[in-house]
Amino acid sequence: MEPINPAIALRRLIKTLRTKGISDERVLDAFGKVPRHCFVDGGMYAQAYDDNALPIGFGQTISQPYIVALMTELLQLEKDDKILEIGTGSGFQTALLAQFSRRVYTIERNRELGEVSRERLREMGYVNVAFKIGDGSLGWPQHSQFNKIIVTAAAPVLPQTLLDQLAEGGRMVIPVGDQHSQDLMVYEKTGQGVEQCCAAHVVFVPLIGQKGWRE
Ligand code: SAM
Repeated sequence: MEPINPAIALRRLIKTLRTKGISDERVLDAFGKVPRHCFVDGGMYAQAYDDNALPIGFGQTISQPYIVALMTELLQLEKDDKILEIGTGSGFQTALLAQFSRRVYTIERNRELGEVSRERLREMGYVNVAFKIGDGSLGWPQHSQFNKIIVTAAAPVLPQTLLDQLAEGGRMVIPVGDQHSQDLMVYEKTGQGVEQCCAAHVVFVPLIGQKGWRE
């Protein structure tokens, strides 16, 4: 197999993301700064810039680039945001979030995945990310409120615990549905209550935990 040229493959991927409707230049720019091939196993290197989810071990996946970009765009990030991410996985989405926000708090329930990602991001020089191993469906109350919350695993219903930790004016993006397909929901906390909309139909691995699916 021909070795890939990451720079060329990345340009092609960014073009694909534009074609599929991603228009926030900050999101596309952040994609250009996070080398996805560093987040997958060597055996997957050649596919790292294809617009597909890839296995990362333990039955988990690094999400499809388009879905990562869409979720990031939907968050409407601002540089002073404090973000909670549930489902660190490979750390790719975490690194993107860390590109243009104040601080990212990320929780992964699988210890090995969480520790590998923590080390990977440390080696890459990210200093504005706090890692935790545990059940992210409970959030991280010690650090709430968060301006933005992103959940990268599918919940059966919106976890009230997470909504409680979202600041007023904040946005949460989370897949909600059954274990085969979900609605990608956006919740926005306003002074009047919570507004919601469905941005897409998606398929995510389950959010396993007290406020997610039981093991
Ligand atoms: N965003 C990740 C990336 O870029 O690689 C992909 C995340 S993967 C689709 C979903 C992750 O959520 C898995 O690593 C899984 O172990 C994790 N997960 C599932 N339930 C969880 C929970 N209750 N708390 C924290 N992490 C959870």
